Amino acid sequence: MKVAVVGAGIMGASTALALTDRGHEVKIFEQFPLPHAQGSSHGASRIVRRAYPDAFYTEIMLDAYPRWEVLDERLGGQVLYETGLLYVGADSSLDVISMQKGLEALGVEHRVLDHRRIGEVYPAFRAEPGEVGILTPGAGWVSAERAVAGSLQLAQEYGAVLHIQSVADPVALIREFDAVCICAGGWAKDLFGLPLSVTLQTFAYLEVEAQGHGPVWIEDGPHGIYGFPPEPGSSRVKYGVHSPGEEINPRQESRPFSPEKLELLKDFASRRWGIENPLPEPQACLYSSTSNIDFLFGEAESGVFWASPCSGHGFKFGPWVGSLMADFVEQRQHPRDWPRFYHA
Ligand SMILES: Cc1cc2nc3c(=O)[nH]c(=O)nc-3n(C[C@H](O)[C@H](O)[C@H](O)COP(=O)(O)OP(=O)(O)OC[C@H]3O[C@@H](n4cnc5c(N)ncnc54)[C@H](O)[C@@H]3O)c2cc1C
Repeated sequence: MKVAVVGAGIMGASTALALTDRGHEVKIFEQFPLPHAQGSSHGASRIVRRAYPDAFYTEIMLDAYPRWEVLDERLGGQVLYETGLLYVGADSSLDVISMQKGLEALGVEHRVLDHRRIGEVYPAFRAEPGEVGILTPGAGWVSAERAVAGSLQLAQEYGAVLHIQSVADPVALIREFDAVCICAGGWAKDLFGLPLSVTLQTFAYLEVEAQGHGPVWIEDGPHGIYGFPPEPGSSRVKYGVHSPGEEINPRQESRPFSPEKLELLKDFASRRWGIENPLPEPQACLYSSTSNIDFLFGEAESGVFWASPCSGHGFKFGPWVGSLMADFVEQRQHPRDWPRFYHA
């Protein structure tokens, strides 16, 4: 089949790769020269994990996580780093308690560490008395840049053609193609009138002592600060704020970081890593979030499928979404088969 893919973030790149793997003739349309920092897929790294507090996502990850192992192998390594994930918070926090219960109920391998033992897995992190760390070994991070660029490269090696071109009316492409897959990130909100908040999310890079940064981590609390160990050979960590930032129309080209969120990141570096006067280098990225952080899938008209899987946690599902979009195209599945995500 001749298939158009609109958007070359992780979802479009994964969709193009899944379609070329299945022998389809694929054209990818991306509005910005690559790589670009206008959407949701740029930056060094993204958290991946097998287990979610919500069992629905854990079940999807049973299928989604091994796809990273496959991509990592196809790209010669350096995509997936299984470092474990440490969730740190007060032992009385409701989220900490419910995460622990969820992991126990699902039988997911994990360890609960008191504040002293957190240092055994993450020496650079200063935990407070009364805090615990929940460590899940089946987790880590993927290189976002290498995953997107590598998936596109593989798709192109198998014959996909990339056009750097903005498509004014992606649905109308169905007149020239047998099927269309639209993976437009924050731009999907206006294209399909979706119930999404598109927000600017601040993250930053900071030079640290390379030693002592272990797993990927999330700090429990209203801001959901999260971060990554340095990439091998580097002493620069990436960390960010998960709580929602300012709403933005993605058509506006500037991507300003939030000075308030930057202050939170400076405070974090002093509090948790003991760095005096830290100077994180901030950037911003788009979240496209539904009110309950679920993903959205739909069919705009016959043969035109779209996917909006972000809400700040979609990257880890990228190769799975790519395969699902290919299933939609081949009529093996339909967005309606995913009632929790289906948007008519
Ligand atoms: C700071 C930050 C941290 C995150 N952390 C994590 C994490 O740790 N773990 C995790 O799982 N997820 C995480 N996420 C979420 C994850 O990154 C997103 O779910 C994912 O990147 C969404 O990818 P996408 O391809 O849908 O969107 P995008 O990457 O935005 O790609 C959409 C593409 O479509 C193009 N486009 C749109 N309209 C058109 C058009 N008309 N014509 C041509 N091209 C068009 C855009 O230019 C863009 O390149 C994070 C997101 C951010 C911003």
